[in-house]
Amino acid sequence: MTRTRFAPSPTGYLHVGGLRTALYNYLFAKKNNGKFILRIEDTDQKRKVKGAIENLIETLKWAGIIPDEGPGFNGKYGPYIQSERIPLYQKYANILLENKNAYYCFCTPERLETLRKAQVARNEPPRYDNYCRSIPEAEAKKRVEAGESHVIRMKSPLHGNIVIDDLIRGKVSFVASVLDDQILVKSDGFPTYHLANVVDDHHMKITHVIRGEEWLPSTPKHILLYEYLGWEKPKFAHLPLLLNPDRSKLSKRQGDIAVEDYRKKGYLPEALVNFLALLGWNPGSDREIFSMENLIELFSLERVNKAGAVFNLEKLKWMNGYYIRNMPVEKLIEYSKEFVPESYLQDVEKLKKVLNATKDNIHTLSEITEKAKIFYQDKVDYTTRDCLSILKKPSSKIVIERLINHLQKVESIDGKTFIEIMREISKETKIKGQDLWMSVRVATTGQLHGPELVKIVDILQKDNILKRLKDALPYTNSKNY
Ligand code: GLU
Repeated sequence: MTRTRFAPSPTGYLHVGGLRTALYNYLFAKKNNGKFILRIEDTDQKRKVKGAIENLIETLKWAGIIPDEGPGFNGKYGPYIQSERIPLYQKYANILLENKNAYYCFCTPERLETLRKAQVARNEPPRYDNYCRSIPEAEAKKRVEAGESHVIRMKSPLHGNIVIDDLIRGKVSFVASVLDDQILVKSDGFPTYHLANVVDDHHMKITHVIRGEEWLPSTPKHILLYEYLGWEKPKFAHLPLLLNPDRSKLSKRQGDIAVEDYRKKGYLPEALVNFLALLGWNPGSDREIFSMENLIELFSLERVNKAGAVFNLEKLKWMNGYYIRNMPVEKLIEYSKEFVPESYLQDVEKLKKVLNATKDNIHTLSEITEKAKIFYQDKVDYTTRDCLSILKKPSSKIVIERLINHLQKVESIDGKTFIEIMREISKETKIKGQDLWMSVRVATTGQLHGPELVKIVDILQKDNILKRLKDALPYTNSKNY
């Protein structure tokens, strides 16, 4: 059975790149009727951030990427948090030591620093010089027993190549002798990422390791560990980097990178998931809108590109707008709750109408209040230059006054009767087109653009319209008439 995993370190917020990795793992597992596992890689205790695990799980749930196994989910291969599995890693570190695939290293941080500096000065890539490899085993054991501070390092082969058969990149070859003798267990007894990652992928029966390209240089070390431990290797797939528009690696400096930032700005999970799915994967057609179900059906690793994918915020905005426009209004209300003032939620029927009238021009949920406020404000601001330039036209005063007259005669008004009245005013006054309609739009909303007037009339209703028309009157040009 296909088993994939998302293995974040709880070092803070979830990055959009992390969400894409989780998504691809999820899609691949679901497509193949497999399982998607969440594993928390927290062996670097110094980098751990409080609340990060909860936040991560909450963000995955928001995005609809629900683990089949993981902390707080089911699964028989737990615990799914690495800091709760330390004895397991120690067991395998000992096996590696016994089989002479690993050794104790006593080098002090000072020695390593001097070594590094000398290598840099000689223009050599900094790496460990295998100094402690040659310490006789019995001597090393004695020093450990005597309590000397040490780490455990893995032996890298001194000759040959290590070849990865990557599902996205094909064969990638590494010269073994340039690999560092990687630390597997740190001086605090905690494993490093490399050891814990391989031990867990094996124990959790992971079949496909799908992760970001930045992990590719670590993979030959992992391959060695699988070989040393006599374990079957999973298949590897390294996803392309996410890039800024200038093709540099996606960074905070050029925009938001935390999923939470997008959530707070009013991006919908459906849109973000759809957008991220297309950052590196190509569906093989021009189609751009995909639900999670569609993605599961169509996803394949063969269609993941090698080249980096540019994070195009304009496209995300467009896509978000698409989802907002095409979403049932009831669902849009649910999503809007976090974004609009309490008072808007008191009249859900009105809010429905308001959203129906405005949603075509909204790209993020956080824009709703701005676009909807014309339906909620007590006082309209007529003092902007644009407004005044319309209201000061002689025709505006005529139209507004006539409309007030007509409205006072009717019981109530809807879009249809409003149009009839406006036609009549046009007939009586010969005022047409922009002069006719814009004056009413500005008088009722204080804006030159916005939803269709009939919708505005339907929402505001007679009393409000009447009040606003009267409020606008003093701003019209009374001198001309
Ligand atoms: N803990 C690593 C991370 O933070 C996992 C890398 C991997 O998937 O192997 O991304």
